[in-house]
Amino acid sequence: MKTAYFSISFDCNEKCVFCPCSENANNQPDVSLQQMKQSLDIAIDQKGVNHVLLSGGEPTLKKEFLQFLEYIVSKNLSIGILSNALKFASKKYLQKVTDITGTENIEITTAIHSHIPEKHERLTQVKNSFRRSLEGLHNIIDAGISTSVKYNMINYTYKELPEYTDWVYKTFPDDVTFLICNIDINGVALKNKDLIAVTFEESTPFLETALDKAVEYRRNGRKRNVKVFTTPLCTLDPYYWGFVNNRTKEELAALRVPSENPVNNRLFLGIDSDTGTMFAPCQNCALKDPCPGTWKMTGELFGDQIFKPFESIATI
Ligand code: SF4
Repeated sequence: MKTAYFSISFDCNEKCVFCPCSENANNQPDVSLQQMKQSLDIAIDQKGVNHVLLSGGEPTLKKEFLQFLEYIVSKNLSIGILSNALKFASKKYLQKVTDITGTENIEITTAIHSHIPEKHERLTQVKNSFRRSLEGLHNIIDAGISTSVKYNMINYTYKELPEYTDWVYKTFPDDVTFLICNIDINGVALKNKDLIAVTFEESTPFLETALDKAVEYRRNGRKRNVKVFTTPLCTLDPYYWGFVNNRTKEELAALRVPSENPVNNRLFLGIDSDTGTMFAPCQNCALKDPCPGTWKMTGELFGDQIFKPFESIATI
């Protein structure tokens, strides 16, 4: 898949304390619809882009969002949307989206930060956001759109991941994918790092217990797809490696996001990922290729000693 990551604006209707954007991100001038269309044309011509991942801020806030969707559909590309799903609590708004995209070539990913409403809202800093995001998610699922629910591993909530896993199985049908991710500790998240940053050593036992639950659910006939992202293989028992996905380390074919800096306010092609196995200990590790590694910033915060390279496959 050749993915273009596009954002019209960093405006958001939540104020997440682990947002990787800088505090003044929403002061950046929006990218105009015309600029978005031109960037997409170039990305298709020069990089063969066949998938557009729309992010923000919250992408659904802008009126140009629907117009840009129309343009993407006219190019026959598949669409991914990273959204907090608040706007999709309105069935009318969701209908406007699916009138443009249909339901076949679109997927929506929404992070629910805790199964405890008060904790989710402590993190989003928006009252009723738990109930409204859930409403939005259920509308999306009922419309037949491919949906993923995402859990971000952070210091404030990581110990609850096993219970969160049960909640996902109770709350959503099995065709909803469950994603577990470590996050990029940058921008606002870096400012709040005491609340956000957690070491792999601390979080792994809870992740492994959550995955034990997923295995147990599977044994009992449940079919959910569970994927773990941005988690180094050397931090997990090999028994769980089948859950780990290394797609995040792939190069982005194209990137277009707002910036007040004229140098960055443009389309970028062929961008290295901010995640991967770029750390010194990884360079001679036997698992460098299949391993997703993690965020560059995680390595900077916790140091190279968090990585335990494998000398050869035979040592595993
Ligand atoms: S040392 Fe690096 S490449 Fe090897 S398993 Fe750990 S993170 Fe992956």
